[in-house]
Amino acid sequence: MIPCADPRAAYLAHKPEIDKAVMTVLDGGRYILGENVTSFEAEFASFLGTRHAAGVGSGTDALHVALRACGVGPGDEVVTVAHSAVATVAAIARSGARPVLVDIDRLSYTMDPDRFEQAITPRTKAVIPVHLYGQPADMSAIVAIAARRGLRVIEDCAQAHGARDGDRRAGTLGDIAAFSFYPTKNLGAFGDGGLVATGDADLLRRVRLLREYGWEQRYVSASEGWNTRLDELQAAVLRVKLRTLDACNERRSALAALYRRLLVDAPVTLPAERLRSTHAYHLFVVRTPRRDAFLQHMYREGIGVLVHYPVPIHHQPAYRELAPAGGLPETESAARQVVSLPLFPELAEEDVQRVAAAVLSAP
Ligand SMILES: *Cc1c(COP(=O)(O)O)cnc(C)c1O
Repeated sequence: MIPCADPRAAYLAHKPEIDKAVMTVLDGGRYILGENVTSFEAEFASFLGTRHAAGVGSGTDALHVALRACGVGPGDEVVTVAHSAVATVAAIARSGARPVLVDIDRLSYTMDPDRFEQAITPRTKAVIPVHLYGQPADMSAIVAIAARRGLRVIEDCAQAHGARDGDRRAGTLGDIAAFSFYPTKNLGAFGDGGLVATGDADLLRRVRLLREYGWEQRYVSASEGWNTRLDELQAAVLRVKLRTLDACNERRSALAALYRRLLVDAPVTLPAERLRSTHAYHLFVVRTPRRDAFLQHMYREGIGVLVHYPVPIHHQPAYRELAPAGGLPETESAARQVVSLPLFPELAEEDVQRVAAAVLSAP
């Protein structure tokens, strides 16, 4: 069986360095907010080309503290998409604000800027574009609309570590950005982890307060806050893996190019690359109107395909009341047709050929 993603392969590829980093933390005796977290924050900020970063407990928490740092709360509205991980909407709901769901662009699977503009009301405080599958959303249009209307832009970069828009990295294109280090992401930990990045020192100060009880000084809460910290073990592992992130993304991109060559005549729609942007290829997503038969065929051939995401958020029981009148046609069509093919840096070319052969023989 060829899996869709394989975080253990990434461990085995860097095993000596990772084992050493983990043992050093265990031996060091400092397990929370120590030198690995501080160094990783500086290294990741420098990788992005931004000024500040703060490690937190997960990508969902990163979105939540970013929203709260921007002053979003009850009575506010935050515009985002329904074609995403449910975490994007769960974080908005947790802030107390109302998620307002808009449709995606058919080719890029990311927020349609016109739909965003039409959804703005006097209560709108912020927008969360999602750089889905590793491709930056149409940020020049989204940022221009947000600037005109006085809204904060929070980038959901959980699938876009290292992606670029022009020569700028995803995570430096809005006011503040949230990253996830869930094991299968382009930069993955061996457990949960997340990070907030921003060029704004004041937003960063608020994120730091929110992640640890509002402490400006230990045991004295200056303001409201919770506990959502990146731990030393995960940070030590992430420092090792960050060194090869660009090389890993280049390998993903080379395998994606191989899929494209092998699948030119296949009866599936290949992913579109936006001009001027660099796709991080978190996922290689094709589209077919006969998805059930396609999935069955791929499983029989031993290919671990997945669907990201089968149920649009406004069709999920917890969030049905967020469904806009008239639905979200492009989102619903994508949810019925998309399929993610196996793609990760350690995947062999022969495996890509096997997957492509299975796609070409699909009914
Ligand atoms: C993974 C993911 C998240 C949530 O990250 P966690 O670390 O799992 O909390 C948020 N948004 C998107 C688009 C994701 O893919």
